[in-house]
Amino acid sequence: MLPDFDAFVADARAWLASVAAPRGARPWGEGSDSVAVFENWTDEQERAQTDRIRAYEQARFDAGWGPLTWPEEYGGRALPVSCALAFRRVEEEFDVPRRTEMFPVTQQLIAPTVAQWGTAEQKKRYVRAMLRTDVIACQLFSETEAGSDLAAVRTKAVRTGDGWRLDGHKVWTSGARVADVGVAVCRTDPDAPKHAGLTVFLVPMDAPGVTVRPIRQMTGGSSFNEVYLDDVRLGDDARLGPENEGWRVALTVLASERLDSGILGLQNADRAVELARHRGTPLDSYVRDRVADLVTRGYVQRLAGMRVAAAVVAGRDPGAEASVGKLLATDTMARTSEVVRLLLGPDLTADPGQWGTYAWGEHVLGAPGYRIAGGTDEIQHNILAERVLGLPRDRA
Ligand SMILES: Cc1cc2nc3c(=O)[nH]c(=O)nc-3n(C[C@H](O)[C@H](O)[C@H](O)COP(=O)(O)OP(=O)(O)OC[C@H]3O[C@@H](n4cnc5c(N)ncnc54)[C@H](O)[C@@H]3O)c2cc1C
Repeated sequence: MLPDFDAFVADARAWLASVAAPRGARPWGEGSDSVAVFENWTDEQERAQTDRIRAYEQARFDAGWGPLTWPEEYGGRALPVSCALAFRRVEEEFDVPRRTEMFPVTQQLIAPTVAQWGTAEQKKRYVRAMLRTDVIACQLFSETEAGSDLAAVRTKAVRTGDGWRLDGHKVWTSGARVADVGVAVCRTDPDAPKHAGLTVFLVPMDAPGVTVRPIRQMTGGSSFNEVYLDDVRLGDDARLGPENEGWRVALTVLASERLDSGILGLQNADRAVELARHRGTPLDSYVRDRVADLVTRGYVQRLAGMRVAAAVVAGRDPGAEASVGKLLATDTMARTSEVVRLLLGPDLTADPGQWGTYAWGEHVLGAPGYRIAGGTDEIQHNILAERVLGLPRDRA
């Protein structure tokens, strides 16, 4: 039965108030001034922070506020998407741990893909555990010559009796250091056309032959990694979906990837507007204009996010709306960088030891990554050119 909407929101707020402080309660200049887009953590810090976020996710799941739209067998309440969106909005009012990308990847990309393509055994083993984040998953998709053109992957999976042997090299794998399982797109039929010879596997990240090497990013941290697969032996129960139909499985993951950009970057945009308020110097008309522009575009991005949500609620594929949303999000992030550069000047590059100044470097250096992650800006433009403008298909 559907809950009374106002009562649902009130209950959500009451539960959140029991586990977290209200976000607005902290005065400007107090608490953490981190605006990192990609965290600058050591291996140990990444593990500790992941455990902290996981503890919140597990508490949320156990209190009945986890996968609200999912059926009860997976720990959900079979509620409409509108309830999940309402919970998210209320959650934004509270100072809950900021999720790293591993959490939406696990809960919103991989869990639904296992639920759609997995065997009964895989669903039992992984779906609930991923929604509760007992198991954290990473995407072993990209390779050095297979990013936008993902179907060009060369990592091989070869049948060995009743199992498989995997050999290859994945790159840009976010969160591989803390992931329990990786979803790997592999070539199983080298003679078939490139989209037809792929199979997807669930690879335990502690399996012999799996080596994770962090990649140092310009922000200083290593939120993504190279992953080497050398003679990794897996049973056939690790295969996700039918042999040689991995492209369809991968598309299920990719389809969910862009749905989540509705609020991406908005928290930092709001923080930049606050910075303008608190900078303590009068803003000239050009800077005022840039700040007002950022506020306006934040509203436009929120509206675009609502269109994606409305399409999902109506059961439509929000592919084009999601691409617009992703482009607006990366644009918001770039304009946020521009506003803080105007406001902070040299304080952005030489640390004046003041709260909320030099810390913005982590936003400025991290933001461009989102023009690439989850499908580049150019690929989003291609999607819009084809699906919205009806232009001829990209040759790739
Ligand atoms: C922060 C971050 C996190 C990531 N996390 C993961 C992860 O967890 N797992 C994973 O598997 N991958 C991950 N990636 C990799 C990401 O998916 C790829 O970087 C992305 O798909 C682009 O691929 P590429 O880097 O090989 O660039 P390429 O595909 O080689 O593109 C190079 C340039 O050419 C342009 N281009 C390519 N094809 C076309 C075309 N048809 N039309 C017009 N322009 C085109 C691109 O837009 C780009 O500007 C991550 C990347 C980043 C930046």
